[in-house]
Amino acid sequence: MGPTAEPDPCEGNPDCQQALAELYTYLDGELTIQKRTIIRTHLDLCSPCGDRYVFETELRQVVSMRCQEKVPEALRNRIAEAIRNEMGR
Ligand SMILES: [Zn+2]
Repeated sequence: MGPTAEPDPCEGNPDCQQALAELYTYLDGELTIQKRTIIRTHLDLCSPCGDRYVFETELRQVVSMRCQEKVPEALRNRIAEAIRNEMGR
């Protein structure tokens, strides 16, 4: 009967617009203490925005963990190859 898409409770709310617009800057730690407090308070009070914050935080952790795993492996392969070349002489 109704449309399948649920209305976004944050849409049209200027507090949410601001919190989401500053979310990445907040995660990067580049906001002033005053602005951090405003965003932090909103994330605590508004669960849709709080969920988005948790999602972005976890996404960043996964990405950084994958990047850290890749670098040593490539390095290890290169070292193993160098040792093999050295021993093959
Ligand atoms: Zn919100």
